[in-house]
Amino acid sequence: MNREAKNRLVSPPYKTLGVSPHDVADSEYGVEGVICACGNTADASGFSAAVATGRLANITIDPSELPSLPESGTLSVCNSCGCVYANDDLKDASTVISYAVARYDLTDPAWRVDRDTYIQVNLGARVTSPSLW
Ligand SMILES: [Zn+2]
Repeated sequence: MNREAKNRLVSPPYKTLGVSPHDVADSEYGVEGVICACGNTADASGFSAAVATGRLANITIDPSELPSLPESGTLSVCNSCGCVYANDDLKDASTVISYAVARYDLTDPAWRVDRDTYIQVNLGARVTSPSLW
């Protein structure tokens, strides 16, 4: 599953930028220890959780316009550069890199609306530090 271009998002819900072969995350230490191609980590700008279709997810049990996060097929979106990674790839212990399945344009208004909702729903009072994973 962890192969470039084989698992790209088919119909991303937000505007995308081109994915280059250099858009790979260091995932040697799994989802929590991932280092994006841009250098972002969970402790820096963090990553946002998304469902398999690419839309940002509601990771709480509270109702939201965002879709609930399923147990599998989830994605992580870099909050710094918009690279999208499949969590199955990030968790794959047999590889130390994961290829981006898409790269979102973080200036897309649709992204910003969902990201604001995401912060409100999922991060509550921690909006000054919108890191998730
Ligand atoms: Zn990044």
